[in-house]
Amino acid sequence: MPSEQLDVVIVGAGFAGIGAAIQLKRLGFRDFVLLDREDDLGGTWYVNHYPGLAVDVPTTTYSYFFEPNPNWSRLFSTGTEIKKYADDVADKYDVRRHIRFNTTVESARWDEDASLWRVALAGGDTLSARYLITATGFLSQPRLPDIKGIADFAGKIVHTTEWDDNYNPAGERVAVIGTGATAVQLIPELAKSAADLTVYQRTPIWVAPKLDFHFSDRAKRLFSRLPWTQRAIRAITDTIYELMINVGVVHYNVPLFRRLNISAMDLCKINQFLQIRDKELRRRLTPDYDIGCKRPTFSNSYFRTFTKPHVHLQSDGIDHIATDGIVNSDGTKTVIDTLVLATGFDLWEANFPAIEVVGRQGRNLGKWWRETRFQAYQGVSMPYFPNYLSLASPYAFLGLNFFNTMEYQMRLMDRLFGEVKRRGASTFEVTEEANTAYLDRMTELLGDSLWTLGNCASSRSYYFNPKGEPSLLRPMSTQDAIEEASEFPLSDYRIA
Ligand code: NAP
Repeated sequence: MPSEQLDVVIVGAGFAGIGAAIQLKRLGFRDFVLLDREDDLGGTWYVNHYPGLAVDVPTTTYSYFFEPNPNWSRLFSTGTEIKKYADDVADKYDVRRHIRFNTTVESARWDEDASLWRVALAGGDTLSARYLITATGFLSQPRLPDIKGIADFAGKIVHTTEWDDNYNPAGERVAVIGTGATAVQLIPELAKSAADLTVYQRTPIWVAPKLDFHFSDRAKRLFSRLPWTQRAIRAITDTIYELMINVGVVHYNVPLFRRLNISAMDLCKINQFLQIRDKELRRRLTPDYDIGCKRPTFSNSYFRTFTKPHVHLQSDGIDHIATDGIVNSDGTKTVIDTLVLATGFDLWEANFPAIEVVGRQGRNLGKWWRETRFQAYQGVSMPYFPNYLSLASPYAFLGLNFFNTMEYQMRLMDRLFGEVKRRGASTFEVTEEANTAYLDRMTELLGDSLWTLGNCASSRSYYFNPKGEPSLLRPMSTQDAIEEASEFPLSDYRIA
């Protein structure tokens, strides 16, 4: 059967894919599809629906720059509201009709003779497209821990990305493995009804107080009538988050900024002190690495939960899992009914790239990244991969807010595709020189960052690739990234 031919295939219908689709429409593309393995849109905000799910970035900032939402109920909105925002934006920009759900992409291969991407789908079908955009997210492949005996556990076992909404922990003995941002939200919720809750912590997390509040109906009406009022609040929340990442992390070489980083850790310690009286418990919950080595989070209830008599912190390690519980390193056993895996995501091995991508002269992206270094010009382009933008790439993620990443990537699309159209060209490919210069610059900038100069050795952070390089985050301000995306030399791409 001949394969269907399109202008663009976007892989992923989360916020990145939806943003890319909106930008393509603005550029005049009509013949494109978004392919998603799920049966609904929203990416991580569709997949995740565990109790307590909320965003840990103020929603004034956690939204598209061109689409403020006056209806947020509170500063740190719930997962349900964010999913609804994704739905509303997709509907408003008429993106939904381009989405094909339950469609898993297995690989994409550049056909040099036809100058087309051949996209292979699970089930055997193929699509062809002039341009390929992968918008597969950074945290989309769940990590299942390889703990001895886990397959023999006879009770219920659930990863947080596969939450069963009908599950009621009331009266149950529950164990949670993991203390990342997900666990910090979930643990206080489980503790409300579980009979007994044991939390297995391998690496503690820095947790700052959450300054959250409701938006009154009056405030919402004001945001709706005078959008600049909400933009003013966004300017404040944007600035706070930019300062956190740029002052506390990116420019760690400046002694004053290093002092501010220490102050942020002090704030987390005060948050802990106000909730926990037991000094030893506080010590066990306190990280021994610098804040920012891995992603910190916010909560006003996480620490207090450990003071409840039925909640226990296990930080000595797991020996193995038995049919009826967890055998701890000290030989004791915690008998449980349900095991919750808040063990996060496999970012480097399973996600970079999330599908097999083969470019010009048979260059395999995953292999090339591993044989050389993880790299992507402007966080989106690699040489030998014509007509391809990889939105979830090394050096792509800006700071703490995904929507800032989306903003510069949409502007880059605008400049690049705009130029391709203006020249009546059909292909673009970043030059090797531009890519190398960009990688060198990222490496140099990272030399001043906390990830290079700070105490990160024990953090086990997904900011670092398996070789130990901090090649996930783009070490610059949002403003600089946006300027670069809008003004990069067009000669950095070969456009033909
Ligand atoms: P995560 O930060 O990677 O945390 C996973 C946790 O599981 C860590 O504590 C990890 O310990 C532990 N773990 C993994 N394998 C283990 C094993 N074999 N044995 C013992 N412990 C193990 O994942 P996450 O909590 O799902 O959060 C991921 C990211 O999602 C966050 O950083 C954040 O960016 C995002 N997130 C955002 C929100 C939001 O509100 N926007 C909410 C939730 C999550 P180690 O640290 O020792 O590896």
